[in-house]
Amino acid sequence: MDSTRRVLEDGTVAIQGDRIIAVGSAREMAARFTSRETINAHRKVVMPGLIDGHGHAGHGLVKTLGMDTDDPSAVAAMRERFTLVELLEAGATVMLGSDGVAPDRSYDMFRHMFQAMRYHRTAFRDPSVLPAGKVLEMVTIDAARALGMERDVGSLEPGKKADIILVDLFRPHMVPMNMPLYRVAYFANGNDVSTVLVNGRVLMRDRQVLSVNEEDVLNFAQREAEAAIMRAGLAKLKETPEGFWGRSWLPKR
Ligand SMILES: [Zn+2]
Repeated sequence: MDSTRRVLEDGTVAIQGDRIIAVGSAREMAARFTSRETINAHRKVVMPGLIDGHGHAGHGLVKTLGMDTDDPSAVAAMRERFTLVELLEAGATVMLGSDGVAPDRSYDMFRHMFQAMRYHRTAFRDPSVLPAGKVLEMVTIDAARALGMERDVGSLEPGKKADIILVDLFRPHMVPMNMPLYRVAYFANGNDVSTVLVNGRVLMRDRQVLSVNEEDVLNFAQREAEAAIMRAGLAKLKETPEGFWGRSWLPKR
């Protein structure tokens, strides 16, 4: 994906240091460069890292707490739509933000792409609202522009930072591996990202996080979240509420 939205079937991205130095066909790149390291992207979509416009790191530890109580932004998202289409038509640059991650939102930008399309198509009663390509732009190149970073990130072009993800297509919910732009916008989820490069550095390879010890981080998060819930006296919020099962509406509180 570059400034002309080119999609290469058998593409290769050449990286030197923290930057992309060339993008082209595998044959052309092999003739031009000898590489110290090659990452095999067979059956994968190689695309710019997705950009999240707004989130809350610490909220990851309180996700689903207070889920069924009054959450103004969740309620607003349900009842209203944003003036996204009007902004686009007025020529504004729009990016998506997850508002991750509590109580009911995730950081998964694939999910938010899908939700943005669904919300707005439902609101307009029109399936042609917000084509998938526009939504892909809103988490890559448009998002970079909104942040004033389009010279560095948001697309795979020579001179830009090597901020790249590999999305695995060879999975049951992704096969057949045709129409990759649609597959990524409608079917992919965050767990399909197999490899992540930031600044040319491989932070995750084949789902293995290399930059931190994932098990240690998860254990620490688990321990601290439980301790914080106890300290705040919120243990009751972890219980399954009255009316959770077998009803069409949660009882009003
Ligand atoms: Zn927020």
